[in-house]
Amino acid sequence: MAIQQQSIVDRSYKLLVLPGDGIGAEIMPHAIRVMNSAVGDSIGLNLEYADFGGCSIDNHGVPMTDETLALAQDSDAVLLGAVGGPKWDDLPVNRKPEKGLLGLRAGLDCFANLRPALTFGPLSQASTLKSELVSDLDILIVRELTGGVYFGEPRGIELRNNLRTGYNTFLYDESEIQRVSRVAFELARKRSCRLCSVDKANVLEVTQLWRDVICEVHADYKDVELNHLYVDNAAMQLVRQPKQFDVIVTGNMFGDILSDVAAMLTGSLGMLPSASLNASNRGLYEPVHGTAPDIAGQNVANPLAMILSIAMMFRYSLDAPQIADSIEKAVQSVLEQGFRTRDIMPIDSTDECELVGTDRMADEVVSQLKD
Ligand code: NAD
Repeated sequence: MAIQQQSIVDRSYKLLVLPGDGIGAEIMPHAIRVMNSAVGDSIGLNLEYADFGGCSIDNHGVPMTDETLALAQDSDAVLLGAVGGPKWDDLPVNRKPEKGLLGLRAGLDCFANLRPALTFGPLSQASTLKSELVSDLDILIVRELTGGVYFGEPRGIELRNNLRTGYNTFLYDESEIQRVSRVAFELARKRSCRLCSVDKANVLEVTQLWRDVICEVHADYKDVELNHLYVDNAAMQLVRQPKQFDVIVTGNMFGDILSDVAAMLTGSLGMLPSASLNASNRGLYEPVHGTAPDIAGQNVANPLAMILSIAMMFRYSLDAPQIADSIEKAVQSVLEQGFRTRDIMPIDSTDECELVGTDRMADEVVSQLKD
């Protein structure tokens, strides 16, 4: 593991970089180049690198070593490419690369998953919805990540009355709801002071509690306008009139589904960043996409989701919103100038766009940052 020290000025941070597998490892060096250009001498960054996911299985026998977890816990933020691929698909579940991901999120206690659905103007044609519905869309979904029905016990499949019966437990205690709702209220405060909480309080007691606790926490955030939607209606509204939303907060399962719906509003997986934060605002920053084995190693993967994840890191964990802004503006300019990786290249549009590879896309962002 190499430590790469950049200039230490008044503020400096420790970052753990986990490139991972497939296009994760391919895009990471380019995203780091962009990060270095954006930072210049303004803050100091100490970067440490470690194997994670499939490459960690190959080199160390496990998807995440104890040493890597300790490094992550000692870092201000963790940058992750993506993990997994056909090479490791046949391993038992508890030895798969994804097991490392769950272990990392749990080990950092990242309970709040932030998934922006942001449509850059020049890409509004890439959505399956009409461009007027999605142009300049900017929604932030805050999904509870460590509780709910995905983790509730008891769970299993067993024989009951001679019938195979599957069951899970949908469970939240009030402290889990309080902490994620505080994150969402704080974020809404920094944006347009509007928060929509999504539940199914008409059917599920656990989400009646969700609604009750959100209303109690709201007492501390009276400047934020709060409304509630049932999850079925929220899904419909997201595709009917997505711009009505600003920040949405919801539990793990509903958030899983709604954030994928919102993601498709923006057109491409290659554009979608994410952050997972713990109570100290430290977190894990990763693109939403996976390792894309079908295109890995061909220099065609879109590096912008990773680059935009780095922008989120500066905004949410490193308290440097001006650097986040500069990265996001550089991405916007590059798109306005017509540079496109294959995934966002219009098929039948008359727009004058230039098809570029992974490296060139990052080069263009770097050159915007230097201007
Ligand atoms: P995927 O996101 O890797 O790919 C889905 C499709 O989108 C593919 O056609 C791919 O070429 C395309 N795509 C994805 N990212 C792109 C980018 N940046 N630029 C251009 N095109 C892009 O999902 P998948 O195929 O279901 O999964 C592949 C592997 O990735 C699996 O092993 C899966 O377990 C893993 N995975 C990992 C994560 C993670 O590490 N967080 C997330 C999802 C999937």
